[in-house]
Amino acid sequence: IPVDPFDLVIFGGTGDLARRKILPGLFRRFMAGQMPPEARIIGAARTDMDSAGYREMVAGAIDEFGGIDTPPADTLAAFLAQLEYVTIDAKGEAGWAELQDLMKGTGRVEAYYFSVAPSLFGDLAERLQHWGMADEDARIVVEKPFGRDLATAKALNGTLAKYFNEDQIYRIDHYLGKETVQNLMAVRFGNMLFEPLWNAQYVDHIQITVAETVGVGGRGEYYDKSGAMRDMVQNHLMQLLCLIAMEPPARFDPDAVRDEKLKVIRALDPVLPHHIMRGQYEAEAGQEAENPSYREAVGDPRSKTESFIALKTQISNWRWSGTPFYLRTGKRMAARSSEISVVFKETPHSIFGPDAGQHRNVLSIRLQPNEGITLGVTIKEPGPGGMRLIDVPLDMTFSEALGDDAEHVDAYERLIMDVIRGNQTLFMRGDEVEAAWAWTDPIIHGWEARGEVPKPYDSGSDGTTDSHELMRRDGREWRKVS
Ligand code: NAD
Repeated sequence: IPVDPFDLVIFGGTGDLARRKILPGLFRRFMAGQMPPEARIIGAARTDMDSAGYREMVAGAIDEFGGIDTPPADTLAAFLAQLEYVTIDAKGEAGWAELQDLMKGTGRVEAYYFSVAPSLFGDLAERLQHWGMADEDARIVVEKPFGRDLATAKALNGTLAKYFNEDQIYRIDHYLGKETVQNLMAVRFGNMLFEPLWNAQYVDHIQITVAETVGVGGRGEYYDKSGAMRDMVQNHLMQLLCLIAMEPPARFDPDAVRDEKLKVIRALDPVLPHHIMRGQYEAEAGQEAENPSYREAVGDPRSKTESFIALKTQISNWRWSGTPFYLRTGKRMAARSSEISVVFKETPHSIFGPDAGQHRNVLSIRLQPNEGITLGVTIKEPGPGGMRLIDVPLDMTFSEALGDDAEHVDAYERLIMDVIRGNQTLFMRGDEVEAAWAWTDPIIHGWEARGEVPKPYDSGSDGTTDSHELMRRDGREWRKVS
């Protein structure tokens, strides 16, 4: 179903994110017939170029990152014809009059995507208002990171609130745009089967792993000021935790869902120092030049920033009291893999005797690669060997179940369409972001006060040795990163 006609201005429209994700994603929506022919996409960035040059750049980006073999030439041309470009300075006056002119009285949905460094978010908001483009139904899309602690997040919320209402602000966390993440909600709240068991009585623990194989690459300088806690845990992992742990909202609408997520964050226990492990990756053996150590990659031999985190936390509420939540994320790990696992308790008594072994149902929700949901169930091993039990996966991977109907839609393109539709359900509200920082800040301040240094871990491993200790102490294990 096509969305309403819109004008989408992409500030930073020549940047890495715009070229890799936003523009190819918009083209895929165009190909799917979701982008109406009256819609316009206006790139706005400091790079000096005209609309023809921009169309050429975008065609190149689609070719490189679009994931479409050879798009039909007329379709591509029709899409490119909907693009414009304005050279603009977020901090100065250049280009604003021209943009204002383009946006005058179009009567369409107006959205402004802030795909620029966060230091420019305030400048953009202020100028949009100054040039009369911050009218009541304009929407702004704000990229991560949203602050680097509670104080800066509050300041940024305060700045944006001067020019826009909360229902005009779309704070992106692209994890929320993933198909499986939404499917997690469908599985939880669309079935009778899971929700009765979704609590401390039946769930042994929950683990969330987001593992990357890449190192910091060219982003070393930025990353070293941030680290895994700020870059991944405070936003992506906490959002996943919220969706797993929240109470059923009364309706699937933005505030009902976000109210429930906020309650989860506010009920999180503080993390004890011995429940959180930090690491920095070592150089890859034999490939020290191509894949240097974290400290070499960021150019600081004494850096205390972590590229890996493993932690244990609890949610102090009626549903989850006593159930540990283990979170882990890192760079240069064994595989690129993001997975949430709900590990259920063992049956209270085994009627099959001691030889049957110990079995637990595990519901694993895989975000990448091979998005899908699998339920591990225990059955009898087929054959004449007697009553021997084995665990088999009950696969709910939709690409297999739904075949060609399972259209692949990237997180960014889904979220941009939600902006145009005016649906904020999958975007973070200001108070959620602040609550997440309020939980994260004392952890980071603790490391700083104690001068803690992350432990080294091997490139291509599952992380630091003590992250495994964290689990073993509790008689549990991380699921293998694969
Ligand atoms: P980038 O450095 O590749 O691009 C920056 C863009 O901003 C360019 O188009 C540049 O022309 C424009 N710009 C810079 N200064 C400007 C000014 N004064 N006035 C107008 N335009 C100006 O950055 P990026 O990687 O595309 O990241 C953009 C935003 O998205 C950042 O907030 C980043 O944290 C976030 N983000 C990026 C990625 C990614 O994969 N690249 C992922 C998640 C979030």
